[in-house]
Parts: sequence; C-alpha cells; structure tokens
Amino acid sequence: MSKKWFELALEAPEGTRHVLGISGGKDSAALAVYIKDNYPQISEKMEYFFTDTGAELQEVYDTLDKLEAYLGKQIKRLSSSRDFDHWLTVHDNMLPSVKARWCTRVLKIKPFEEFVGDDSVVSYVGIRADENREGYISQKPTIKAVFPFSGDGIVRDDVFRILEESIGIPAYYQWRSRSGCFFCFFQRQDEWLGLKRRHPELFQKALEMEKNVGQRKFDWGAGERIESGNGYTWHQSGTLEEIVMRVEEKELSENKMNKGRKMKWQEIIKNEMDDDPEDQACLICSL
Ligand code: SF4
Repeated sequence: MSKKWFELALEAPEGTRHVLGISGGKDSAALAVYIKDNYPQISEKMEYFFTDTGAELQEVYDTLDKLEAYLGKQIKRLSSSRDFDHWLTVHDNMLPSVKARWCTRVLKIKPFEEFVGDDSVVSYVGIRADENREGYISQKPTIKAVFPFSGDGIVRDDVFRILEESIGIPAYYQWRSRSGCFFCFFQRQDEWLGLKRRHPELFQKALEMEKNVGQRKFDWGAGERIESGNGYTWHQSGTLEEIVMRVEEKELSENKMNKGRKMKWQEIIKNEMDDDPEDQACLICSL
C-alpha cells in the first residue's frame, strides 16, 4: 500500500522545509486551519507564505490577518520586485489572458521559486478529494507536493465547515467565487459587476488599463476595428463596459421574473461550480 501524505511529510529528512502557500482563497486557508487542528507536529514546522501581486482585494488581506491570529504564526508576504504595470510594459501592453498567463508566471510562480531556492521542500497543496484538477506543482526535483485534503477525503462542504468554525469565510465570496487579482480575467462576467459595486475605484482602474492598451470601434461594414493600441480586453466577449451593461440588463430581467426573490450569498457560493476547466492554470492564485 502506498504511503499516506503525512507519512511522506514526516519522514522528510532533517532540514527539509515545509511550506504552505496561502492564496487568500478558501481551500488553502482551510488547509492551514485543518493541519494546525489535526496535525500539530506538521503545523509547528510549517512556513506559511502569501504571494502578493499588488492587485489584491482588501478582503484578502483581512482573511490573512484572521488566519495569522488563528495560526499564531506570521504568513510571510512575497512579491515580485516590480508592479503589474511594469510587467504589462515588458509584455508589450498585452493584458494577460487564459491563453497568455504571463501574470501567474511573473507574479506568483517566480517569487515562490525564489522563496524556496534549492532547498529541499515539502509543499502542501489544498486540492480536495472531490476535485479532479492539478495545482501548480513545481518541476523542481527539490520540491515534493503533498495533498492532505485529497488524502483525507476532505470535500467542499468540509472546507466551508472548517472555515465557518474558525476564521470565517472570506468576505469576497459574497460576490466573487475565487480570490486573486481584482482584474483577474478568470472572473465571471457577473463578478465584474460585483467588482464595480463593491470596489468602484478598482473597477475604474481595470477599465482604464483596458482603455490604455487599446481602443476599439464597431463599424457596421467592417465589424469591430482596433483604433489604437493592441485592442486587448480583459474578457474575450467585449470591453468591461459592455460586459457590465449586459449583466445589469440580465439581472434586471431575472429580478422581474423572480419578483425580487434573491438567493442568499451562501446559497450562491455553495452552488457555484468552481471546478471549471478554465480555472486549472490559475490554481496557484486561487486555491
Ligand atoms: S489571479 Fe488572475 S490575473 Fe492575478 S496572477 Fe493569477 S491568473 Fe493572473
């Protein structure tokens, strides 16, 4: 029979570092709580880290503060040496997208790999037993990934229960289904509207970034034309202004049909499918 994850973790040679990346999302936060409560001999060796892209929501910092208090340990803040605007310029003003995820590489993976260097490391990853996906698993031979939730049969409802009984569910889940940069292109169209309502100044910033990289104009004869810049948008189905307008219209007609019945946010989140394939490459950001 193959060894259990904690046997592999505990028999790691002296000097091995044990690290758990906190993304600000529910799974990694719950994993930190779960290991502290159930595997204290591992928790006491653990180094927690958070890779700050400089474009995080305040709700993420609030979750980190609560988690630090619960764990009684500091969560080390890592970051790329330069801000997003610098990297955007380096990438020819091409906004990151599902097909060109340079942001994950420079803002998340590189700082992590610098943090661990060539040390021998066990990395704890919050993939659950009810998921069929892979997080970022380094190809470095010095890093060994273990999956405690998957190994212990912890599923989505367990994760919510663990958080409800400890630090609470991160507040952004009231309007967003994952953590990550405020402009993350993985967010759903209605989440852009959520950003506009909850953080209008950040929405405005995302809007300006989109406008700065290119202007597009619709022409009935030629279709959409790029007026200046490269014409990239945060979402393939249109500009942020168009997306938000569409979602508002949809919301208005649904509200009329439902005669104002609104789902509780807990219902929305628990029904939310967060395992869509598009997510797969973003897991270092949102797990
Ligand atoms: S959260 Fe989204 S935008 Fe931010 S680094 Fe990850 S994939 Fe890129």
